[in-house]
Amino acid sequence: MITIWNEYRSERTPDNPAAELYPEGIHTVLSSAFAQARLDHRTAYLDQPEYGLPDPVLENTDVLFWWGYLAHDEIPDALVDRIQERVLGGMGLVLLHSSHHAKVFKRMLGTSGSLTYRVRGEKERLWVVNPGHPIAAGLGAFVELPQAEMYGEPFDIPQPDELVFVSWFEGGEVFRSGCCWQRGRGRIFYFRPGHEAFPIYHNAQVQQILINAARWATPAGPIEPPVTSRRDDALE
Ligand code: ZN
Repeated sequence: MITIWNEYRSERTPDNPAAELYPEGIHTVLSSAFAQARLDHRTAYLDQPEYGLPDPVLENTDVLFWWGYLAHDEIPDALVDRIQERVLGGMGLVLLHSSHHAKVFKRMLGTSGSLTYRVRGEKERLWVVNPGHPIAAGLGAFVELPQAEMYGEPFDIPQPDELVFVSWFEGGEVFRSGCCWQRGRGRIFYFRPGHEAFPIYHNAQVQQILINAARWATPAGPIEPPVTSRRDDALE
C-alpha cells in the first residue's frame, strides 16, 4: 500500500496559484495517476487526525510519498521517529520538491537540505543521467518543463547512492534532481520538480517518474524495524 501524504495548505490558500492548479490538492492529482497505473494507494494530509498518519495507516504503508512546504515545523518529532523506524525496517520514502526541508528528510539524510532557489517560471530540462535505472523507465533523454521554480547547487545532501536526474535551468544553474539512497532496509528517492505554482504534477512524464519511483521503493520483503538482540550461545 502506497500512502500519498500531502501538507495540503498551499492549495487551500486563497489567491495562491496552487488553489487553481490543484483545487482538490496535489495528492488527488497524484492519486489519479496512480489509479491509472493500478497502484494500490491512498491519500493523507496534515490536517487530518494524527496528521493523517495514525499508527494503523503508517503500519500498513509500504511506500510513503511526502510533499510539504509551509508547515514542516508542525510535524511532531514523535511522528518523525515512527517514520524513521519504518523506513529503516524497509518502507520506501519518496520526498517531493520542497520536502528538502522537511523534518523527515533531515532525519533520514542527516544534512540540512539547503540549496539555492528562484521563482521566475524558468524552463527546466531534466536530464536522465542513469537511463538504465528503473525510475527512468519509459523516458527519453530528458524531460522538459516549460516553467519551473529553479533549485540550484550546492544542494546539501549526502552523496546519493544513485543519481537518476540532473536538471539544467534557463538561468544557468544545475541541480541533482533525482537522488536515491538506502537507509537500513528502506529505499529513499528525492525528486525535485513539484513547485505548487506550476502544473508540474499534471505532466505525464513527471507522473511516469513517480509511478516508477513507487515501484522501485516498494520493499521486497516484510517490513521489520531493526532490533539489537543478544546471542549468548556461539554458533561454533
Ligand atoms: Zn517550490
